[in-house]
Amino acid sequence: MSAHTTAHTTARTTARATQRPASVTDALLDQLVARVPSTSGGTLRDGSSLASSGTTWKLTEVYTGEVLVELPQSTPADIEQAFVDARAAQAEWSQWPLAKRLKVFNRAHAIFVDNAQKTADLIQVESGKNRRMAIEETCDPPMVMSHYIKHAPRLLKPHKVGGPVPFLTTSTAIRQPKGVVGVIAPWNFPFATGISDAVTALIAGNGVVLKPDNKTALSPLWGIQMLEEAGLPKGLFQVVCGEGPDVGPTLIDNANYVMFTGSTATGRVIGERAGRNLIGACLELGGKNPMIVLDDADIDEAVQGAVFGVFGNTGQICMHIERVYLPESRYAEFRDKFVARAEGLDVRASYDFGPEMGSLVSPDHRDRVQHHVDDAVAKGATVLAGGKPRPDLGPAFFEPTILEGVTTDMLAGATETFGPVVALHRYHTVDEAVALANDTDYGLNASVWGTDLEAAEGVARRIHSGNVNVNDILATAFASKGTPSGGVKQSGVGARHGDQGLTKYTDVQNLAVLKKQVMGARPGQNYDDYVKGMLQGLKMMRKARIR
Ligand code: NAD
Repeated sequence: MSAHTTAHTTARTTARATQRPASVTDALLDQLVARVPSTSGGTLRDGSSLASSGTTWKLTEVYTGEVLVELPQSTPADIEQAFVDARAAQAEWSQWPLAKRLKVFNRAHAIFVDNAQKTADLIQVESGKNRRMAIEETCDPPMVMSHYIKHAPRLLKPHKVGGPVPFLTTSTAIRQPKGVVGVIAPWNFPFATGISDAVTALIAGNGVVLKPDNKTALSPLWGIQMLEEAGLPKGLFQVVCGEGPDVGPTLIDNANYVMFTGSTATGRVIGERAGRNLIGACLELGGKNPMIVLDDADIDEAVQGAVFGVFGNTGQICMHIERVYLPESRYAEFRDKFVARAEGLDVRASYDFGPEMGSLVSPDHRDRVQHHVDDAVAKGATVLAGGKPRPDLGPAFFEPTILEGVTTDMLAGATETFGPVVALHRYHTVDEAVALANDTDYGLNASVWGTDLEAAEGVARRIHSGNVNVNDILATAFASKGTPSGGVKQSGVGARHGDQGLTKYTDVQNLAVLKKQVMGARPGQNYDDYVKGMLQGLKMMRKARIR
């Protein structure tokens, strides 16, 4: 555990390099933090005040390093109490008719959209991303709400079918909420992953206990405040905070299902514990996502796509691009245009829509990205653009970086860098490009560019990846809420969105009814005759296509 202190209030400094958004007032910050249980006695759950005991974590404004809040760290007793409270609220919530539950999210949709700028302020202060990405992130929960408001009635409706004996038996699949879902969210899209995945669980009738990343707890806390304003019963959606290994075990041991988004390494730990507890888990993990440019691609569009794919969210998108494969014939053209765009990017700390790229999330993460670049260079890679931190812009800024000559023995060649760093590669045949794209343990996202759509789709189908976008990087797949989005190989288990994005939060009860005792041999019936009749019945039903 790092950056711990025992004090709950810290003077917020006034000397600032960047003007914090006016909406992020000290009063708002205190209000949000007061939602986190901070003592084992559970006395703060009314949210009115903070006790003076318990450890805290310094949550900072990324652009300046200024401490914004001392975030309470939940103890195992706090976490257990959060589950008790959520379970009590869930018992009532699950009895609400679905239409009544959905009204809450209908109201929430409007509140979320109306407050998008304030939400973006909070996302930016805690993550350091540029405003263009922050405002995009605010749109995800309303899009998810909108999709499931429309589709939940169909997906959660009981489904009745005929049973084994025609007319005399029925069997009905009844969707029941799991209970209380533990949601563990990362820092790169704290609002989208923290709120959208929880909203779906809530629509299905569950309670939620969310563990956001310590660095980015403010925007999900704000999301819960907006949901409660829309009518979500208090207590149903709890938040606990702390370092993952401290909070994770108690959270998983109390949950009926776990929705995890984060790194592959942590996903393995979560999956093991969920497996031991015999509860389900959806694991949305890391990637090392390839982009294949085919020889008929529109290079200007592909370069524009790569600028977003590599540098969007400062390279901290799970579906972003870290490897680009180019045909020999188009390599120089793409490289020169891409390098020029990277070098001309507007990279700054600002709370307006100007900058095209913002900061990394923390100085620690900046060091990790630097380590990947240094390791690649030491092993023979060439830096075509960037490659260095920018302390003049803020504590965690790093230049848009393009590498050449990266091989799989380098950190940046095989493992996820999760920063604004990409490697360009040449290929000679499409088969070679597909083989190189698939030469990874990950399988989260891929991108294929070409003007012959049929050919590009053909290449896309050969890539072992949960998502593949043709002539786009990721938005087309991720924003399509009607189709599942998840990873294969080491990039995950299960998916969000689509029908399973909602139904995964339910158990199915098979309610079967036999109207008359007709199954089995009748009393006194010769068993050979019974078996003969039963086997004939099977044949008849097949012939008549009844079963
Ligand atoms: P991380 O795995 O370190 O942390 C994710 C969350 O898990 C955090 O809240 C963290 O506190 C918590 N955690 C860590 N150890 C834990 C443990 N032992 N038990 C319980 N919780 C624990 O990942 P990160 O660095 O915060 O996030 C970046 C990673 O997330 C990248 O690999 C990225 O690709 C991935 N990601 C994936 C998706 C997706 O949808 N596939 C989306 C966003 C991010």
